[in-house]
Amino acid sequence: MLKYLYPDGKFKALTFSYDDAEVGDRRLVTLFNEHHLKGTFHLNDGKFDTGNYISATEVRDLYKGHEVACHGVMHKHPAIMSTTEAMIEYSENRRRLEELTGGLVRGLSYAYGEYSDEIIGVAHSCGLVYSRTVMSTYGFRIPADFMQWHPTLWHGDERLNELIDQFLNLPDYVELPLFYIWGHSFEFDRNNNWEIIEKATDRLAGDDDTWYATNIEIYDYITAVRSLIYSVDGKTIHNPSAQTIWVRNTNASGDGNVIIRIEAGATYTL
Ligand SMILES: [Zn+2]
Repeated sequence: MLKYLYPDGKFKALTFSYDDAEVGDRRLVTLFNEHHLKGTFHLNDGKFDTGNYISATEVRDLYKGHEVACHGVMHKHPAIMSTTEAMIEYSENRRRLEELTGGLVRGLSYAYGEYSDEIIGVAHSCGLVYSRTVMSTYGFRIPADFMQWHPTLWHGDERLNELIDQFLNLPDYVELPLFYIWGHSFEFDRNNNWEIIEKATDRLAGDDDTWYATNIEIYDYITAVRSLIYSVDGKTIHNPSAQTIWVRNTNASGDGNVIIRIEAGATYTL
């Protein structure tokens, strides 16, 4: 029986998502870097260089090694915006962040967690491929629809430590478990509780079984897994994507535990 694994044969994945681009991101990125963790930062470019927000000129260096993604130019309410406003809010945000980072920007999180079918359509047509909500699942499942990507939980949730315990002790029959934590870095400054994220990162870092990834890296890998082409008997698998897919075959050759790499563009026969 085949079971998918994450890149390099890792069993589980952890990702973080932080919104708004306030100056607390500097301390948070430093913390992530010290622990070799990866995060996605959803930025409102219209707020740069005002109030408590970071400056446009620091975007490229500050978030290096992490993902920069959209959150709207001005953090307008998705439930109130017209379609035209939404197009500007997302496409201009994307254009500016691509200009500042010099890379592709394809992710979104909904301001205030608000969205609708119409907003999803606009975001998609602006080239955004996933969007995070604020609805906790308290679980580790891959989202069926990446435009409604519900996180495991908010970092301030009273169940955080319980979920970390569960994630660190997952049974190995679970397939592609993902722990997704979200929040705002300004909450740690406002509530003077940086120890929440410091303790969480201490507990979650440095695990050889965990793939530490940005939101878009998770999206790209799962999309590649979903694109695999199988023969009817399930024994021939073609990988048309641009990345290697890792699979565990639990009954291939008697030892019950063979790890297979299906290379980009390759056809593999079991
Ligand atoms: Zn926000």
